[in-house]
Amino acid sequence: MITLPIYSRETVYSWLVRQVLLSGLPYPRAALKSLIGDQHFQLTSLLPGYSKSLAENSLCDVDELLNEHTTMNYFRLFSSPSKYESLRVELEAGCSITMVNQHGWLATLSQQPRELRYCPVCATDEYLRLGVAYWHVEHQLPGCIACAKHGVYLIGIKRWRNMLELPLQHPDQHLVIAPSAATKLAQLSVELLCCTDAFLAQRQLAQAYRIRLAELGLATTTQKLYIDQYGFREKIEETWRALRYEPSVAAVLSLGHGQMFPKCMSFYHQSQHPLRHLLVIGALFSSVTEMLEYYHSLNARHQTLLSQRHVRQPRTPYEDESLVRRVLSQLSDGLSMNAISRQQRCSAKIIKRIALQHGVTISRNPKFLHHAARRKIWRLLLIGQPCSEIAKIMDCSKAAIELELSYYPELKPLRKKIQYFKLQQKHRTALLKATDAFPNYSRTQLQKRYKATYSWLYKNDTDWLNSHLPPTIPISERQLGKAKNAG
Ligand SMILES: [Zn+2]
Repeated sequence: MITLPIYSRETVYSWLVRQVLLSGLPYPRAALKSLIGDQHFQLTSLLPGYSKSLAENSLCDVDELLNEHTTMNYFRLFSSPSKYESLRVELEAGCSITMVNQHGWLATLSQQPRELRYCPVCATDEYLRLGVAYWHVEHQLPGCIACAKHGVYLIGIKRWRNMLELPLQHPDQHLVIAPSAATKLAQLSVELLCCTDAFLAQRQLAQAYRIRLAELGLATTTQKLYIDQYGFREKIEETWRALRYEPSVAAVLSLGHGQMFPKCMSFYHQSQHPLRHLLVIGALFSSVTEMLEYYHSLNARHQTLLSQRHVRQPRTPYEDESLVRRVLSQLSDGLSMNAISRQQRCSAKIIKRIALQHGVTISRNPKFLHHAARRKIWRLLLIGQPCSEIAKIMDCSKAAIELELSYYPELKPLRKKIQYFKLQQKHRTALLKATDAFPNYSRTQLQKRYKATYSWLYKNDTDWLNSHLPPTIPISERQLGKAKNAG
């Protein structure tokens, strides 16, 4: 008979371990047998099959144990009444986790976490208050690596089938603050675990997601609400970036190979793992409760969306951080204000304001260059300086110099000739240096070693190249050489 009380949100496994360790029997196996019989249960399972035996050996009700001390309720909201009822019946009858797997809840999308987890702050508090630290249901949920209450990383102990262990009773580990995404997922999971709402209808739920996506600009605001799949995926990945290496989260994010989410991510697919929904909810809503508010007011929200369709939304570029980032990066690349305004589809006035706010000097337009500056640019253009270098010297954009060049069409062929001459000098000098450094090199060896120079000269300066290369080896001598090498 179990005499110990079960604590708030304690797992049935934790309760069983405490009872076994305190039973006074010399062998834990004997204590286990007396409590749950000699069936081979997977003790650490998220949905243990021995709850009924424990209920029979105590004053607890089996439904209370299943609802409050296993993860069963976590699977309820996104399930159907019949599916959920059959899960409950199977767990009551002591079915193993493999049978639960057949429901598709735990299959493929996420395995059971490989560790049993506890929060060091919760554990210390319980040890001081109750004399024992125990395993919490909410710390064992898939994808949860932080304590929703304390925002610190949970500590994991490798899980194995028949282990009988409690969390460390004096955890003196260094506390590590978890990233906000980890705490957010933990809070959503706890909310789902404790949710008492009725089962959700899949079509209505999908519509709630669509409406929210449309509000966020990730779906059309038409009657059909078509989703921007790539934008949707980006939003989810961005929200959960800090958790992308957590196996169960990674399993969901890897669906669709980084492109569109595949069919099993669709809201109507058979496999409705709660983690998949939580990742979507976390990206679109602030809480499960907010999602439920949308779910219960679909028509009103859709009508509002449709009525706002033709009202032009004022652009608020100052709130758009990504626009500011893009503009600043293009300004630092030396793009002109007009080019940026064309590419970012916003007015030059906005670009100017962003630049002023961030202390960036804007490249000057050529029409504002005064006479002396234009004269200097002309001289630099005349001696064949590249536009990018002139832009640096004159502290203005490359586009401004190119525009200035277009005013002097006669300069173009001249600049071409100057540039050709400069290249010719460069490659001729390189080849002469090469023949000096390696006087015994054959033509082929030089060609291999100085590929760029050889190719340029061969293409543009053939006569000079031929007159400065070592003499060619006659074919007969080449064959002789080969024969000698073979011999
Ligand atoms: Zn905690």
